[in-house]
Amino acid sequence: MKIRIIGAGPAGLYFAALMKQHDPSHDIVIYERNPRDATWGFGVVFSDRALEFLKGDDEQLYHYLTPHLENWPEITVVHNDTRIPIAGNGFASIGRLELLTLMYRYVEQLGVPIRFETEVNSLEEIGDADLVVGANGVASWIRAENEAKLGTTTDWRPNKFIWYGTTKAFNSLTLTFRETGQGVFCAHHYRYRPDMSTFLVEVEEDTWRRAAHGPFFHRLGHPAGHGRRRCAVQGLQGNRRRRGACPRALSRTAPAPHAQDLGGGQCQHRVVRKNG
Ligand SMILES: Cc1cc2nc3c(=O)[nH]c(=O)nc-3n(C[C@H](O)[C@H](O)[C@H](O)COP(=O)(O)OP(=O)(O)OC[C@H]3O[C@@H](n4cnc5c(N)ncnc54)[C@H](O)[C@@H]3O)c2cc1C
Repeated sequence: MKIRIIGAGPAGLYFAALMKQHDPSHDIVIYERNPRDATWGFGVVFSDRALEFLKGDDEQLYHYLTPHLENWPEITVVHNDTRIPIAGNGFASIGRLELLTLMYRYVEQLGVPIRFETEVNSLEEIGDADLVVGANGVASWIRAENEAKLGTTTDWRPNKFIWYGTTKAFNSLTLTFRETGQGVFCAHHYRYRPDMSTFLVEVEEDTWRRAAHGPFFHRLGHPAGHGRRRCAVQGLQGNRRRRGACPRALSRTAPAPHAQDLGGGQCQHRVVRKNG
């Protein structure tokens, strides 16, 4: 079968690997608009359950990826200054670029070429194919153009998120909630390499609006890895130039010496649902 995949994110790469293993005679090509060494975001998390699914579907890929993962047997919930470790919730994580780089090699070794820096914006550009897979992420034009056929709906949620990378190595996947005069700030943070963590701050829209009316600094778990440094969550205010869209290819993920604002934008949470 002639299969063309738009997007070399985790979904497109994994689909290509499964199809090629299922039948090596498939002619598969992946188109990716970004360069090989570019991505956005910092770490990616897998639950133990997700890894079980991966092991069940592709044991070879499971053994290929797992030596690169950071692991914790528990999650931690922090409410103001109270820490509550919750056992029995195993998670693992990896840098997003590292995951993608490993997956590129994996599918290429299976005989699937990836055409980097090739943006596909219409089905005509692809030409003849038995199957075209739209794996081009949350803002997929293929999904948007075919919502009725695919039975999907898109629902923009109002919460604001901002992603940071930090050199502070957190001990477990942690959810930190802090009550402030402006409202509740929630941080999701976890180590994805021995020396790097993702630090994501989420607020409700009302909190974000209240915090935007003045300088706001609050201690939210020392994201920059320095005891006295405070989380500059004032970065949530103001800059709305990327409103409504998660920035793409924002950085080449050079490890940041301190907490780093990924491009200064903020993302709204977009929920894409398959009906029925
Ligand atoms: C900032 C951020 C941080 C995140 N952190 C985590 C996390 O810690 N843990 C976690 O589990 N999940 C995280 N997520 C969610 C996770 O990244 C997504 O669930 C996952 O990446 C989805 O994979 P995907 O392959 O469907 O799409 P994507 O990873 O978005 O991949 C889509 C690919 O398609 C390419 N593409 C798009 N349009 C075109 C086009 N027209 N032509 C060619 N190529 C195109 C894009 O460049 C991209 O490489 C995060 C998301 C964001 C935005």
